[in-house]
Amino acid sequence: MTRRVIVIGAGAAGLIAAGRAAEMGADVILLEKMREAGKKILVSGQERCNITNTAPLEKFLSYYGRNGQFLRNAYHRFFRDELLALLARYGVTTQEERGGRVFPASGQAGDVRDALLRYATSHRVEIRYHAEVQQFLIDDGAVIGVQLSNGTRIPAHAVILATGGASWPATGSTGDGYRMAQEAGHTIIPLRPALVPLTVAERALAKALQGVSLRNISCTFYTQKGDGPAKMLRIPFPLPPTGEMVFTHFGVSGPLILTASLAAVDALRDGAKVTLSVDLKPGMTEQDVHARLQREFEEHAHRQLANLLRGWVPATLADALAGLSGIAADRHVHTIRADERAQLVALLKDFRWTITGSLPLAAGMVTAGGVALKEVHPVSFESRLVRGLHIVGEALDIAADTGGFNLQAAFSSGYLAGEHAGSEEELRFIAF
Ligand SMILES: Cc1cc2nc3c(=O)[nH]c(=O)nc-3n(C[C@H](O)[C@H](O)[C@H](O)COP(=O)(O)OP(=O)(O)OC[C@H]3O[C@@H](n4cnc5c(N)ncnc54)[C@H](O)[C@@H]3O)c2cc1C
Repeated sequence: MTRRVIVIGAGAAGLIAAGRAAEMGADVILLEKMREAGKKILVSGQERCNITNTAPLEKFLSYYGRNGQFLRNAYHRFFRDELLALLARYGVTTQEERGGRVFPASGQAGDVRDALLRYATSHRVEIRYHAEVQQFLIDDGAVIGVQLSNGTRIPAHAVILATGGASWPATGSTGDGYRMAQEAGHTIIPLRPALVPLTVAERALAKALQGVSLRNISCTFYTQKGDGPAKMLRIPFPLPPTGEMVFTHFGVSGPLILTASLAAVDALRDGAKVTLSVDLKPGMTEQDVHARLQREFEEHAHRQLANLLRGWVPATLADALAGLSGIAADRHVHTIRADERAQLVALLKDFRWTITGSLPLAAGMVTAGGVALKEVHPVSFESRLVRGLHIVGEALDIAADTGGFNLQAAFSSGYLAGEHAGSEEELRFIAF
């Protein structure tokens, strides 16, 4: 009897898992609850799909924070080069862009999805759409199949759970996998939104600045518990010294904010107060800013403050900074006193915001938390609790920064799980 493998979820991890299991000779059924495959791939990378990154392995792993080490073994077996070679075999050529980000040369996320579909179907994977899995069938500690929400039971020798996270539910990832894994005995590390915009207490100010985008600024987050000292918040992903952020009607977003967001979310959950300090002129010391302002005030004595500040920051922000400094925006700069100038320097170097929370889980680009990694083997991605059950992709407690790292984790885990689940003697001696 041919080995039967069921893959739940036709996203990045599930498509590659199904293709690989079938390539290994298994009879594979890929069950997808939506009416098409890879809806999240289609929206990824602003519909251009940032597939992976050219960062060397050690740096690559650092973009997952502490949990990155779990992926080391997998990446020794199936990493970027193997992924790109596979995609090339199915017609996708790629190009590297800023920050080592790799995209399909066509700029179309759909090409990645279609290549993975070709990989699966060319190895005769049977894809069933509108097929929502409700639970695993487990007997004597081993998975023996799945049950769909319509009651249909499908037997299998192995099952790969590739249901993704709980973010962007319109793409199909509604967190079903977490519930199923928990029912099977797995620990679910609490779900939190990652790569998510943050909300601030200074709502009216954020709203006034909505749409203002800042480049070449730096962000530092501070946490404080009770009356304790304020500490710099440790960001688990490498935060570039300078970068971009944008104001929204509820708070702050943009690359630097998204990268730091999970740490801020976790600190707030931990009961800490979180503040954000934006340095609008990171290339200058406070003294430099002081000296330059003083010089400009002398050289342009009759200019109005807001007008002069527009040479420093975008116009809307210049008006807001004048307002915050307590100095009338139309004051001629030669009338501004030294203590008032110090106030402007403080705003330019340490523009403070109180972080109150984030947009909800559904709005995060990825879901942090998920199936506890200690309960999953790092090469076969087989559950250590249920034989024959493999758990891959965002369903695992893995979340990374932007840059192609989340998709690489989904692809590598999916491929290796497919390889193990699809092979006759499932290499249990490696798995346990
Ligand atoms: C807007 C956006 C942009 C992104 N851009 C990038 C990027 O450029 N680069 C990058 O690396 N990462 C990016 N990510 C993150 C990345 O897309 C995901 O981490 C990755 O797609 C996860 O893959 P997955 O296969 O684990 O899950 P998913 O791709 O979410 O696939 C899960 C599949 O399972 C199906 N499913 C769920 N429950 C069931 C069920 N009960 N029965 C049957 N089927 C089910 C779903 O319908 C879905 O098709 C982005 C995310 C978002 C939201």
